[in-house]
Amino acid sequence: MITKKLYDEAPYDREFRAAIKDVVKTKNGKTGLILDQTLFFPEEGGQSCDKGTLGGFEITHVSIDEDVIIHELQAPADAFSTGDQINGVIDWDHRFSNMQNHTGEHILSGILHRDYSSENMGFHLSDNIVTLDTTKVLTPGQLSELEKKANEVIYANLPVLCRYYTKDELDHMEYRSKLDFEESARLVVIPGVDICACCAPHVKHTGEIGLIKIIKAINYKGGMRFSILSGRRAYEYICAECSRMDDLTHLLSEKRENLISAVERLLEKTESYRLEKIENAKRMLDGEMEKIDDSAEDAVIFVEEVNDITQRNAVNDLASKHSGICGVFSGNDNDGYKFIISMPGGDAREASDLLREKLHAKGGGSKDMVQGSVNAAKDVIIEALNGRR
Ligand SMILES: [Zn+2]
Repeated sequence: MITKKLYDEAPYDREFRAAIKDVVKTKNGKTGLILDQTLFFPEEGGQSCDKGTLGGFEITHVSIDEDVIIHELQAPADAFSTGDQINGVIDWDHRFSNMQNHTGEHILSGILHRDYSSENMGFHLSDNIVTLDTTKVLTPGQLSELEKKANEVIYANLPVLCRYYTKDELDHMEYRSKLDFEESARLVVIPGVDICACCAPHVKHTGEIGLIKIIKAINYKGGMRFSILSGRRAYEYICAECSRMDDLTHLLSEKRENLISAVERLLEKTESYRLEKIENAKRMLDGEMEKIDDSAEDAVIFVEEVNDITQRNAVNDLASKHSGICGVFSGNDNDGYKFIISMPGGDAREASDLLREKLHAKGGGSKDMVQGSVNAAKDVIIEALNGRR
């Protein structure tokens, strides 16, 4: 009861008629149809399945098991009877996008094999992106060259030839994904670019792909993992990128070609503002320290954000003059404070315990010094610390 694969010979057909051979329950408990023939490509070889409808019902998945193709449907099982004829319509935009992306992957893999001795170790075609794992790490220069060569294959509008070869023919041929096929196998040939065993639908001419774009190439398991887009998906990706660039040019009131330097200037400004703020806070901290009466037991200071070293030095300074709670709280009432506390005449953990119990402060330390953060306002913190008496 092998399902005849109409998509093999007629990858451009969008509708078909078939006889129902069996109505089954799928692994998901849904209704599954087995037909005598189908245009629906199943999930196979790393590629997601076709979408569309059968008898007007939406297809939720298409799988293959030993050449029997099962169409999973959003429909009650009693809607179908064995022997009935049924109409199938595939989602052509989705299918053609898969054909573009799949053939684009052949071109890249073929060039990687031919020119860089880098082999395709794994491939996945989802509805959003194609990933490709390879065996060699390419330099940035080689990556640009690879992408350029792939797009040159598109401009050359080469034929993409798919046909079955006998075992005898296969034994005498060199091709990618070579397995020890027991019978015939389907080879996809792009002359001068790639020969590969493959079962999926492809475009007839490379020109139909339109564009191949490598979105990302990262080092992966000793080779590289490529994220690539072809055809309409590549075009839509570039449109979205351009739109983001437009938004940025408006936000920064800069021409596109000046965006990088504009962002660099902005970052420099932000950093100098931050350093200036910390410097001001340090001056304020020094001023606050001078105000504290040397005879006071406790010495607690609240100040705008200062860096850790300044804060710690201030606490040590206070601890040399006072025996009670010597603390510096850095931050503000809205965002909370980072604190460092010392208590020369006692155990600093007493203070952090109070803040934890009353205000859910985080942090800890030793008898000599504690540090942490507390999300509360200055008045509330002072009140909590006074609770020790
Ligand atoms: Zn293929």
